[in-house]
Amino acid sequence: MAGSEGYDVVVVGGGGAGLAAAVSACEAGASVLVAEAGAQVGGSTALSGGAFLAAGTAVQKAAGCEGDSAAEFYDYFLAVNRWDIEPSIVRRYCDEGAAAVQWLTELGVEFPPGEIARGELERIPRLHRAAGGGAGIVAGLRSACNRVGVDFALGTRVTELVERDGVVVGVRAGDDELAAGSVILTTGGFANNHELVAEHIPSARAVLDGLRSPAPGTNLGDGLRMGLAVGAATAGTDRAQVLLSAGLTSDIEPVLPGWLICVDATGRRFVDETAHYHVMNPLTLEHGGTTWAIFDENACQEARGSGSRFGAGMWTHEVLSHAAAGGQIPTAPDIPTLATRLGLPAAVLQTTIDRYNADCAAGQDTLFFKDAARMVPCATAPFYGVPLRPTIMPVTGFGLRIDSDTRVLRAADNRPLTGLYAAGEVVGRRIFSGGAMIAAGVIFGRHAGRVAAADH
Ligand SMILES: Cc1cc2nc3c(=O)[nH]c(=O)nc-3n(C[C@H](O)[C@H](O)[C@H](O)COP(=O)(O)OP(=O)(O)OC[C@H]3O[C@@H](n4cnc5c(N)ncnc54)[C@H](O)[C@@H]3O)c2cc1C
Repeated sequence: MAGSEGYDVVVVGGGGAGLAAAVSACEAGASVLVAEAGAQVGGSTALSGGAFLAAGTAVQKAAGCEGDSAAEFYDYFLAVNRWDIEPSIVRRYCDEGAAAVQWLTELGVEFPPGEIARGELERIPRLHRAAGGGAGIVAGLRSACNRVGVDFALGTRVTELVERDGVVVGVRAGDDELAAGSVILTTGGFANNHELVAEHIPSARAVLDGLRSPAPGTNLGDGLRMGLAVGAATAGTDRAQVLLSAGLTSDIEPVLPGWLICVDATGRRFVDETAHYHVMNPLTLEHGGTTWAIFDENACQEARGSGSRFGAGMWTHEVLSHAAAGGQIPTAPDIPTLATRLGLPAAVLQTTIDRYNADCAAGQDTLFFKDAARMVPCATAPFYGVPLRPTIMPVTGFGLRIDSDTRVLRAADNRPLTGLYAAGEVVGRRIFSGGAMIAAGVIFGRHAGRVAAADH
Protein backbone atom coordinates (compact mmCIF):
# COMPACT_ATOMS: atom_id res chain seq x y z
CA MET A 1 0.00 0.00 0.00
CA ALA A 2 1.33 3.43 -0.93
CA GLY A 3 1.61 6.36 1.43
CA SER A 4 3.81 5.37 4.37
CA GLU A 5 2.69 8.50 6.21
CA GLY A 6 -0.80 7.07 6.29
CA TYR A 7 -4.17 8.63 5.52
CA ASP A 8 -6.84 10.44 7.47
CA VAL A 9 -9.33 7.83 6.30
CA VAL A 10 -8.72 4.34 4.90
CA VAL A 11 -11.74 2.70 3.28
CA VAL A 12 -11.54 -1.10 3.06
CA GLY A 13 -13.56 -2.30 0.04
CA GLY A 14 -14.43 -0.38 -3.12
CA GLY A 15 -18.07 -1.24 -3.76
CA GLY A 16 -20.98 1.22 -3.60
CA ALA A 17 -20.65 1.86 0.15
CA GLY A 18 -16.86 2.21 0.02
CA LEU A 19 -16.80 4.57 -2.95
CA ALA A 20 -19.55 6.73 -1.43
CA ALA A 21 -17.58 6.86 1.84
CA ALA A 22 -14.39 7.80 0.00
CA VAL A 23 -15.99 10.63 -1.98
CA SER A 24 -17.72 12.16 1.03
CA ALA A 25 -14.66 11.86 3.30
CA CYS A 26 -12.56 13.56 0.63
CA GLU A 27 -15.24 16.23 0.09
CA ALA A 28 -14.99 16.87 3.85
CA GLY A 29 -11.27 17.56 3.50
CA ALA A 30 -9.73 14.22 4.50
CA SER A 31 -6.94 12.40 2.69
CA VAL A 32 -8.45 9.06 1.63
CA LEU A 33 -7.24 5.68 0.40
CA VAL A 34 -9.55 2.94 -0.85
CA ALA A 35 -7.98 -0.53 -0.49
CA GLU A 36 -9.77 -2.94 -2.81
CA ALA A 37 -9.08 -6.69 -2.92
CA GLY A 38 -10.23 -7.04 -6.52
CA ALA A 39 -8.41 -5.90 -9.62
CA GLN A 40 -11.09 -3.25 -10.05
CA VAL A 41 -13.65 -1.49 -7.88
CA GLY A 42 -17.38 -2.21 -7.96
CA GLY A 43 -18.12 -5.30 -5.85
CA SER A 44 -21.67 -6.63 -5.84
CA THR A 45 -22.86 -3.09 -6.47
CA ALA A 46 -21.46 -3.14 -10.01
CA LEU A 47 -23.12 -6.52 -10.72
CA SER A 48 -26.49 -5.48 -9.36
CA GLY A 49 -29.59 -4.17 -11.06
CA GLY A 50 -28.93 -0.75 -9.54
CA ALA A 51 -32.39 -0.42 -7.97
CA PHE A 52 -32.32 2.29 -5.29
CA LEU A 53 -35.23 2.60 -2.85
CA ALA A 54 -35.87 6.17 -1.66
CA ALA A 55 -38.75 8.51 -0.90
CA GLY A 56 -39.48 12.19 -1.47
CA THR A 57 -37.01 12.50 -4.36
CA ALA A 58 -36.90 14.98 -7.22
CA VAL A 59 -37.00 11.97 -9.58
CA GLN A 60 -40.36 10.90 -8.13
CA LYS A 61 -41.70 14.42 -8.65
CA ALA A 62 -40.43 14.45 -12.24
CA ALA A 63 -42.28 11.15 -12.74
CA GLY A 64 -45.50 12.68 -11.42
CA CYS A 65 -45.39 10.74 -8.10
CA GLU A 66 -46.22 13.59 -5.75
CA GLY A 67 -46.84 13.53 -2.02
CA ASP A 68 -44.28 11.00 -0.81
CA SER A 69 -42.20 11.73 2.28
CA ALA A 70 -39.41 10.33 4.45
CA ALA A 71 -41.90 10.11 7.35
CA GLU A 72 -44.31 7.89 5.38
CA PHE A 73 -41.41 5.79 4.13
CA TYR A 74 -40.21 5.29 7.73
CA ASP A 75 -43.65 4.11 8.90
CA TYR A 76 -43.87 1.76 5.93
CA PHE A 77 -40.43 0.30 6.58
CA LEU A 78 -41.10 -0.39 10.23
CA ALA A 79 -44.44 -1.99 9.41
CA VAL A 80 -43.20 -4.35 6.66
CA ASN A 81 -40.24 -5.38 8.83
CA ARG A 82 -42.56 -5.89 11.82
CA TRP A 83 -40.38 -3.42 13.78
CA ASP A 84 -37.62 -6.05 13.83
CA ILE A 85 -35.12 -3.46 12.68
CA GLU A 86 -33.26 -0.61 14.36
CA PRO A 87 -35.49 2.47 14.22
CA SER A 88 -32.64 5.01 14.52
CA ILE A 89 -30.92 3.44 11.52
CA VAL A 90 -34.12 3.23 9.47
CA ARG A 91 -34.81 6.86 10.31
CA ARG A 92 -31.46 7.99 8.92
CA TYR A 93 -31.95 5.79 5.87
CA CYS A 94 -35.37 7.29 5.12
CA ASP A 95 -34.39 10.86 5.96
CA GLU A 96 -31.26 10.87 3.78
CA GLY A 97 -32.47 8.83 0.79
CA ALA A 98 -33.69 11.79 -1.28
CA ALA A 99 -30.47 13.74 -0.63
CA ALA A 100 -28.41 10.67 -1.63
CA VAL A 101 -30.29 10.35 -4.94
CA GLN A 102 -29.69 14.07 -5.53
CA TRP A 103 -25.99 13.70 -4.63
CA LEU A 104 -25.55 10.73 -7.00
CA THR A 105 -27.34 12.68 -9.72
CA GLU A 106 -24.95 15.59 -9.26
CA LEU A 107 -22.06 13.10 -9.49
CA GLY A 108 -23.37 12.02 -12.89
CA VAL A 109 -25.56 8.99 -12.10
CA GLU A 110 -28.82 9.05 -14.03
CA PHE A 111 -32.15 7.90 -12.56
CA PRO A 112 -34.60 8.21 -15.48
CA PRO A 113 -38.04 9.23 -14.11
CA GLY A 114 -39.69 6.86 -16.60
CA GLU A 115 -37.95 3.89 -14.93
CA ILE A 116 -39.25 4.52 -11.43
CA ALA A 117 -41.30 1.57 -10.15
CA ARG A 118 -43.09 0.09 -7.17
CA GLY A 119 -40.74 -2.36 -5.41
CA GLU A 120 -43.05 -4.33 -3.15
CA LEU A 121 -46.15 -3.13 -1.37
CA GLU A 122 -45.55 0.62 -1.46
CA ARG A 123 -48.44 3.00 -2.11
CA ILE A 124 -46.22 5.07 -4.36
CA PRO A 125 -43.30 4.08 -6.64
CA ARG A 126 -39.97 4.42 -4.80
CA LEU A 127 -37.65 2.11 -6.71
CA HIS A 128 -35.23 4.33 -8.66
CA ARG A 129 -33.43 2.35 -11.37
CA ALA A 130 -30.01 3.76 -12.23
CA ALA A 131 -29.18 3.99 -15.93
CA GLY A 132 -26.64 1.25 -16.59
CA GLY A 133 -27.70 -0.65 -13.45
CA GLY A 134 -25.35 -0.90 -10.47
CA ALA A 135 -22.41 -0.38 -12.82
CA GLY A 136 -23.85 3.08 -13.60
CA ILE A 137 -23.78 3.99 -9.89
CA VAL A 138 -20.22 2.68 -9.53
CA ALA A 139 -19.07 4.60 -12.62
CA GLY A 140 -20.48 7.87 -11.23
CA LEU A 141 -18.85 7.35 -7.83
CA ARG A 142 -15.55 6.22 -9.35
CA SER A 143 -15.21 9.35 -11.49
CA ALA A 144 -16.13 11.49 -8.48
CA CYS A 145 -13.29 9.78 -6.58
CA ASN A 146 -10.91 10.82 -9.35
CA ARG A 147 -12.19 14.40 -9.29
CA VAL A 148 -11.85 14.85 -5.53
CA GLY A 149 -8.48 13.05 -5.27
CA VAL A 150 -9.12 9.68 -3.62
CA ASP A 151 -6.13 7.29 -3.79
CA PHE A 152 -6.64 3.62 -4.65
CA ALA A 153 -4.73 0.45 -3.79
CA LEU A 154 -6.29 -2.10 -6.13
CA GLY A 155 -5.55 -5.80 -5.71
CA THR A 156 -4.94 -5.15 -2.02
CA ARG A 157 -6.73 -7.46 0.37
CA VAL A 158 -6.69 -5.96 3.86
CA THR A 159 -6.18 -8.76 6.36
CA GLU A 160 -6.15 -7.10 9.78
CA LEU A 161 -6.97 -3.94 11.67
CA VAL A 162 -4.19 -2.34 13.68
CA GLU A 163 -5.39 -1.53 17.17
CA ARG A 164 -3.58 0.34 19.93
CA ASP A 165 -5.07 0.80 23.42
CA GLY A 166 -8.52 -0.02 22.14
CA VAL A 167 -8.31 2.45 19.26
CA VAL A 168 -8.18 1.38 15.58
CA VAL A 169 -5.19 3.20 14.10
CA GLY A 170 -4.57 1.48 10.79
CA VAL A 171 -4.79 -1.59 8.58
CA ARG A 172 -2.52 -4.44 7.52
CA ALA A 173 -2.40 -6.17 4.16
CA GLY A 174 -0.06 -9.09 4.61
CA ASP A 175 3.23 -7.59 5.79
CA ASP A 176 2.30 -4.01 4.83
CA GLU A 177 0.98 -1.72 7.52
CA LEU A 178 -0.68 1.62 6.94
CA ALA A 179 -1.63 4.22 9.55
CA ALA A 180 -5.15 5.66 9.40
CA GLY A 181 -6.94 8.31 11.43
CA SER A 182 -10.17 6.37 10.80
CA VAL A 183 -10.94 3.06 9.09
CA ILE A 184 -14.24 2.44 7.29
CA LEU A 185 -15.08 -1.21 6.63
CA THR A 186 -17.14 -1.67 3.46
CA THR A 187 -16.14 -5.21 2.47
CA GLY A 188 -19.62 -6.40 1.48
CA GLY A 189 -21.18 -9.74 2.42
CA PHE A 190 -19.82 -13.26 2.94
CA ALA A 191 -22.03 -15.53 0.83
CA ASN A 192 -18.92 -16.97 -0.83
CA ASN A 193 -17.52 -18.08 2.53
CA HIS A 194 -19.45 -21.24 3.40
CA GLU A 195 -17.83 -21.53 6.83
CA LEU A 196 -19.23 -18.13 7.83
CA VAL A 197 -22.57 -18.96 6.19
CA ALA A 198 -22.84 -22.17 8.21
CA GLU A 199 -21.97 -20.28 11.39
CA HIS A 200 -24.22 -17.25 11.00
CA ILE A 201 -27.02 -18.28 8.63
CA PRO A 202 -28.28 -21.50 10.28
CA SER A 203 -31.26 -21.87 7.91
CA ALA A 204 -28.81 -22.26 4.99
CA ARG A 205 -26.94 -25.19 6.57
CA ALA A 206 -29.28 -27.70 4.92
CA VAL A 207 -28.49 -26.37 1.42
CA LEU A 208 -24.80 -25.61 1.91
CA ASP A 209 -23.73 -28.28 -0.59
CA GLY A 210 -25.54 -26.55 -3.47
CA LEU A 211 -25.15 -22.93 -2.31
CA ARG A 212 -23.83 -20.41 -4.85
CA SER A 213 -23.50 -16.64 -4.82
CA PRO A 214 -23.37 -14.20 -7.71
CA ALA A 215 -21.38 -11.80 -5.49
CA PRO A 216 -17.68 -11.33 -6.38
CA GLY A 217 -15.27 -14.01 -5.16
CA THR A 218 -13.49 -11.37 -3.05
CA ASN A 219 -16.56 -10.93 -0.83
CA LEU A 220 -15.47 -13.41 1.83
CA GLY A 221 -16.52 -11.73 5.05
CA ASP A 222 -13.11 -10.18 5.80
CA GLY A 223 -14.62 -7.03 7.33
CA LEU A 224 -16.77 -9.11 9.65
CA ARG A 225 -13.78 -11.23 10.69
CA MET A 226 -11.57 -8.15 11.24
CA GLY A 227 -14.29 -6.40 13.23
CA LEU A 228 -14.80 -9.47 15.41
CA ALA A 229 -11.05 -9.65 16.05
CA VAL A 230 -11.14 -6.18 17.67
CA GLY A 231 -14.24 -6.94 19.75
CA ALA A 232 -17.06 -5.64 17.54
CA ALA A 233 -20.68 -6.49 18.30
CA THR A 234 -22.74 -8.23 15.62
CA ALA A 235 -26.37 -8.40 14.57
CA GLY A 236 -28.65 -10.12 12.10
CA THR A 237 -28.23 -13.86 12.78
CA ASP A 238 -29.86 -15.93 10.04
CA ARG A 239 -30.48 -12.95 7.80
CA ALA A 240 -29.68 -13.53 4.16
CA GLN A 241 -31.41 -13.18 0.85
CA VAL A 242 -31.79 -16.48 -0.96
CA LEU A 243 -33.32 -17.29 -4.31
CA LEU A 244 -34.80 -20.59 -5.47
CA SER A 245 -32.84 -22.65 -7.94
CA ALA A 246 -32.59 -26.17 -9.32
CA GLY A 247 -28.90 -25.63 -9.99
CA LEU A 248 -29.29 -26.12 -13.77
CA THR A 249 -27.85 -22.74 -14.77
CA SER A 250 -25.93 -20.04 -12.92
CA ASP A 251 -28.33 -17.22 -13.88
CA ILE A 252 -30.18 -15.37 -11.14
CA GLU A 253 -33.95 -15.66 -11.45
CA PRO A 254 -35.62 -13.51 -8.81
CA VAL A 255 -39.18 -14.40 -9.87
CA LEU A 256 -40.53 -17.70 -11.23
CA PRO A 257 -42.51 -17.91 -14.48
CA GLY A 258 -46.29 -17.91 -14.07
CA TRP A 259 -46.86 -21.22 -15.87
CA LEU A 260 -45.34 -23.27 -13.02
CA ILE A 261 -47.41 -24.95 -10.31
CA CYS A 262 -45.40 -24.97 -7.08
CA VAL A 263 -46.29 -27.45 -4.35
CA ASP A 264 -44.74 -28.27 -0.98
CA ALA A 265 -44.04 -31.73 0.48
CA THR A 266 -47.76 -32.22 1.16
CA GLY A 267 -48.51 -31.92 -2.59
CA ARG A 268 -50.46 -28.67 -2.10
CA ARG A 269 -49.86 -25.24 -3.58
CA PHE A 270 -48.86 -22.72 -0.91
CA VAL A 271 -48.37 -19.44 -2.79
CA ASP A 272 -49.00 -17.48 -5.97
CA GLU A 273 -45.99 -18.83 -7.88
CA THR A 274 -45.20 -15.36 -9.29
CA ALA A 275 -44.87 -13.80 -5.82
CA HIS A 276 -41.97 -11.41 -5.13
CA TYR A 277 -38.81 -13.21 -3.97
CA HIS A 278 -39.14 -11.56 -0.57
CA VAL A 279 -42.34 -13.58 -0.19
CA MET A 280 -41.61 -16.74 -2.19
CA ASN A 281 -38.27 -17.67 -0.65
CA PRO A 282 -39.00 -17.28 3.07
CA LEU A 283 -42.34 -19.00 2.52
CA THR A 284 -40.58 -21.93 0.81
CA LEU A 285 -38.26 -22.19 3.82
CA GLU A 286 -41.28 -22.21 6.12
CA HIS A 287 -42.78 -24.99 3.99
CA GLY A 288 -39.81 -27.30 4.47
CA GLY A 289 -37.14 -25.73 2.24
CA THR A 290 -38.05 -27.38 -1.09
CA THR A 291 -40.79 -26.61 -3.55
CA TRP A 292 -41.54 -28.82 -6.53
CA ALA A 293 -42.35 -26.95 -9.75
CA ILE A 294 -44.78 -29.06 -11.80
CA PHE A 295 -45.59 -28.49 -15.49
CA ASP A 296 -46.53 -30.44 -18.58
CA GLU A 297 -45.16 -31.05 -22.06
CA ASN A 298 -47.01 -28.10 -23.60
CA ALA A 299 -45.49 -25.72 -21.05
CA CYS A 300 -42.05 -27.23 -21.64
CA GLN A 301 -42.38 -26.72 -25.40
CA GLU A 302 -43.41 -23.08 -24.92
CA ALA A 303 -40.87 -22.24 -22.18
CA ARG A 304 -39.03 -18.99 -23.01
CA GLY A 305 -37.38 -18.14 -19.66
CA SER A 306 -38.47 -16.21 -16.59
CA GLY A 307 -37.75 -12.77 -18.02
CA SER A 308 -34.90 -12.10 -15.56
CA ARG A 309 -32.55 -9.20 -16.28
CA PHE A 310 -29.69 -11.44 -15.19
CA GLY A 311 -29.92 -14.01 -18.02
CA ALA A 312 -32.43 -16.31 -19.72
CA GLY A 313 -32.19 -18.74 -16.80
CA MET A 314 -33.30 -22.35 -16.64
CA TRP A 315 -36.95 -21.94 -17.67
CA THR A 316 -36.35 -22.37 -21.38
CA HIS A 317 -37.33 -25.30 -23.57
CA GLU A 318 -33.67 -26.00 -24.38
CA VAL A 319 -32.49 -26.22 -20.77
CA LEU A 320 -35.53 -28.13 -19.51
CA SER A 321 -35.66 -30.73 -22.29
CA HIS A 322 -31.90 -31.26 -22.07
CA ALA A 323 -32.08 -31.73 -18.28
CA ALA A 324 -35.06 -34.09 -18.61
CA ALA A 325 -33.24 -36.17 -21.23
CA GLY A 326 -30.20 -36.33 -18.93
CA GLY A 327 -32.32 -37.48 -15.97
CA GLN A 328 -31.78 -34.26 -13.95
CA ILE A 329 -35.52 -33.50 -14.07
CA PRO A 330 -37.90 -36.35 -13.23
CA THR A 331 -40.70 -36.89 -15.79
CA ALA A 332 -43.66 -39.30 -15.85
CA PRO A 333 -46.57 -40.25 -18.10
CA ASP A 334 -49.15 -39.26 -15.45
CA ILE A 335 -49.41 -37.23 -12.26
CA PRO A 336 -49.54 -40.13 -9.73
CA THR A 337 -46.38 -41.67 -11.22
CA LEU A 338 -44.67 -38.25 -11.16
CA ALA A 339 -45.71 -37.83 -7.53
CA THR A 340 -44.19 -41.20 -6.63
CA ARG A 341 -40.95 -40.28 -8.42
CA LEU A 342 -40.80 -36.98 -6.53
CA GLY A 343 -41.73 -38.54 -3.18
CA LEU A 344 -44.99 -36.54 -2.98
CA PRO A 345 -48.43 -37.88 -1.94
CA ALA A 346 -49.97 -38.98 -5.26
CA ALA A 347 -53.67 -38.44 -4.43
CA VAL A 348 -53.10 -34.93 -3.05
CA LEU A 349 -50.96 -33.89 -6.02
CA GLN A 350 -53.64 -35.18 -8.40
CA THR A 351 -56.27 -33.09 -6.54
CA THR A 352 -53.99 -30.04 -6.72
CA ILE A 353 -53.49 -30.41 -10.47
CA ASP A 354 -57.20 -31.11 -11.12
CA ARG A 355 -58.19 -27.98 -9.23
CA TYR A 356 -55.54 -25.87 -10.98
CA ASN A 357 -56.73 -27.10 -14.38
CA ALA A 358 -60.35 -26.30 -13.47
CA ASP A 359 -59.23 -22.82 -12.38
CA CYS A 360 -57.42 -22.36 -15.71
CA ALA A 361 -60.63 -23.28 -17.56
CA ALA A 362 -62.69 -20.90 -15.40
CA GLY A 363 -60.12 -18.10 -15.75
CA GLN A 364 -59.54 -17.59 -12.03
CA ASP A 365 -57.02 -18.94 -9.53
CA THR A 366 -59.46 -19.63 -6.69
CA LEU A 367 -56.70 -20.35 -4.14
CA PHE A 368 -54.08 -17.62 -4.58
CA PHE A 369 -55.52 -15.33 -7.26
CA LYS A 370 -52.47 -15.53 -9.52
CA ASP A 371 -52.86 -13.49 -12.71
CA ALA A 372 -55.03 -15.83 -14.82
CA ALA A 373 -53.32 -14.65 -18.00
CA ARG A 374 -50.12 -16.32 -16.79
CA MET A 375 -51.71 -19.68 -15.94
CA VAL A 376 -51.56 -22.65 -18.30
CA PRO A 377 -53.19 -26.04 -17.72
CA CYS A 378 -51.06 -29.03 -16.77
CA ALA A 379 -52.73 -31.76 -18.80
CA THR A 380 -50.42 -33.07 -21.53
CA ALA A 381 -47.97 -35.93 -20.87
CA PRO A 382 -45.17 -36.23 -20.10
CA PHE A 383 -45.33 -34.33 -16.81
CA TYR A 384 -42.25 -32.70 -15.26
CA GLY A 385 -41.32 -32.01 -11.62
CA VAL A 386 -38.34 -29.84 -10.66
CA PRO A 387 -37.27 -29.59 -7.02
CA LEU A 388 -36.27 -26.00 -6.24
CA ARG A 389 -34.28 -25.06 -3.16
CA PRO A 390 -33.13 -21.68 -1.84
CA THR A 391 -29.52 -22.09 -2.97
CA ILE A 392 -28.62 -18.78 -4.61
CA MET A 393 -27.45 -16.27 -2.01
CA PRO A 394 -26.75 -12.81 -3.47
CA VAL A 395 -26.78 -11.00 -0.11
CA THR A 396 -25.97 -11.78 3.53
CA GLY A 397 -27.50 -9.84 6.41
CA PHE A 398 -25.46 -10.90 9.43
CA GLY A 399 -22.70 -8.44 10.21
CA LEU A 400 -21.19 -5.75 12.40
CA ARG A 401 -23.40 -3.70 14.67
CA ILE A 402 -23.23 0.05 14.13
CA ASP A 403 -24.97 3.08 15.56
CA SER A 404 -26.84 5.50 13.31
CA ASP A 405 -23.56 7.41 12.77
CA THR A 406 -21.97 4.21 11.38
CA ARG A 407 -19.63 3.80 14.36
CA VAL A 408 -18.93 0.11 14.97
CA LEU A 409 -20.07 -0.85 18.47
CA ARG A 410 -18.10 -3.00 20.91
CA ALA A 411 -19.62 -6.30 22.06
CA ALA A 412 -18.31 -5.77 25.59
CA ASP A 413 -20.09 -2.50 26.42
CA ASN A 414 -22.07 -1.41 23.35
CA ARG A 415 -19.92 1.75 23.01
CA PRO A 416 -18.27 2.84 19.75
CA LEU A 417 -14.92 1.29 18.91
CA THR A 418 -12.83 4.41 18.43
CA GLY A 419 -11.55 4.80 14.88
CA LEU A 420 -13.77 2.14 13.27
CA TYR A 421 -16.81 2.67 11.03
CA ALA A 422 -18.78 0.36 8.75
CA ALA A 423 -21.38 0.66 5.98
CA GLY A 424 -23.06 -1.52 3.37
CA GLU A 425 -23.48 -5.27 3.44
CA VAL A 426 -20.78 -5.79 6.09
CA VAL A 427 -23.24 -4.27 8.57
CA GLY A 428 -25.64 -6.58 10.37
CA ARG A 429 -29.38 -6.17 10.81
CA ARG A 430 -29.34 -3.89 7.83
CA ILE A 431 -32.37 -2.50 6.19
CA PHE A 432 -33.38 -5.52 4.18
CA SER A 433 -35.79 -5.03 1.36
CA GLY A 434 -35.77 -4.98 -2.45
CA GLY A 435 -33.70 -1.99 -3.60
CA ALA A 436 -32.72 -1.05 -0.06
CA MET A 437 -29.31 -2.71 -0.09
CA ILE A 438 -27.65 -0.42 -2.59
CA ALA A 439 -29.47 2.59 -1.18
CA ALA A 440 -28.38 1.74 2.38
CA GLY A 441 -24.80 1.19 1.17
CA VAL A 442 -24.63 4.59 -0.50
CA ILE A 443 -26.52 6.47 2.24
CA PHE A 444 -24.52 5.03 5.14
CA GLY A 445 -21.27 4.98 3.18
CA ARG A 446 -21.70 8.67 2.46
CA HIS A 447 -22.48 9.35 6.11
CA ALA A 448 -19.54 7.21 7.31
CA GLY A 449 -17.21 9.30 5.15
CA ARG A 450 -18.46 12.53 6.68
CA VAL A 451 -18.31 11.24 10.28
CA ALA A 452 -14.92 9.53 9.89
CA ALA A 453 -13.43 12.65 8.30
CA ALA A 454 -14.71 14.80 11.17
CA ASP A 455 -13.56 12.34 13.87
CA HIS A 456 -10.06 11.44 12.67
C1 LIG B 1 -26.43 -9.93 -8.82
C2 LIG B 1 -26.89 -9.03 -7.72
C3 LIG B 1 -27.97 -8.15 -7.96
C4 LIG B 1 -28.39 -7.28 -6.95
N1 LIG B 1 -29.36 -6.33 -7.22
C5 LIG B 1 -29.65 -5.39 -6.28
C6 LIG B 1 -30.51 -4.28 -6.56
O1 LIG B 1 -30.96 -4.08 -7.70
N2 LIG B 1 -30.81 -3.41 -5.55
C7 LIG B 1 -30.28 -3.55 -4.29
O2 LIG B 1 -30.57 -2.73 -3.41
N3 LIG B 1 -29.42 -4.56 -4.02
C8 LIG B 1 -29.08 -5.46 -4.97
N4 LIG B 1 -28.17 -6.45 -4.67
C9 LIG B 1 -27.46 -6.39 -3.37
C10 LIG B 1 -26.46 -5.22 -3.40
O3 LIG B 1 -25.83 -5.16 -4.67
C11 LIG B 1 -25.38 -5.35 -2.32
O4 LIG B 1 -25.94 -5.67 -1.08
C12 LIG B 1 -24.65 -4.00 -2.20
O5 LIG B 1 -24.24 -3.56 -3.47
C13 LIG B 1 -23.44 -4.16 -1.28
O6 LIG B 1 -22.65 -2.99 -1.40
P1 LIG B 1 -21.30 -2.93 -0.56
O7 LIG B 1 -20.61 -1.70 -1.00
O8 LIG B 1 -21.57 -3.12 0.87
O9 LIG B 1 -20.47 -4.22 -1.03
P2 LIG B 1 -19.88 -4.56 -2.46
O10 LIG B 1 -20.45 -3.70 -3.52
O11 LIG B 1 -19.98 -6.03 -2.63
O12 LIG B 1 -18.34 -4.14 -2.32
C14 LIG B 1 -17.49 -4.80 -1.41
C15 LIG B 1 -16.08 -4.67 -1.93
O13 LIG B 1 -15.17 -4.98 -0.89
C16 LIG B 1 -14.07 -5.68 -1.46
N5 LIG B 1 -13.39 -6.43 -0.39
C17 LIG B 1 -13.84 -7.51 0.29
N6 LIG B 1 -12.94 -7.89 1.21
C18 LIG B 1 -11.90 -7.02 1.11
C19 LIG B 1 -10.66 -6.90 1.82
N7 LIG B 1 -10.31 -7.73 2.80
N8 LIG B 1 -9.81 -5.89 1.46
C20 LIG B 1 -10.13 -5.04 0.46
N9 LIG B 1 -11.28 -5.11 -0.24
C21 LIG B 1 -12.17 -6.09 0.09
C22 LIG B 1 -14.71 -6.55 -2.51
O14 LIG B 1 -13.76 -6.96 -3.47
C23 LIG B 1 -15.78 -5.62 -3.07
O15 LIG B 1 -15.29 -4.88 -4.18
C24 LIG B 1 -27.75 -7.33 -5.67
C25 LIG B 1 -26.69 -8.24 -5.43
C26 LIG B 1 -26.25 -9.06 -6.46
C27 LIG B 1 -25.07 -9.98 -6.20
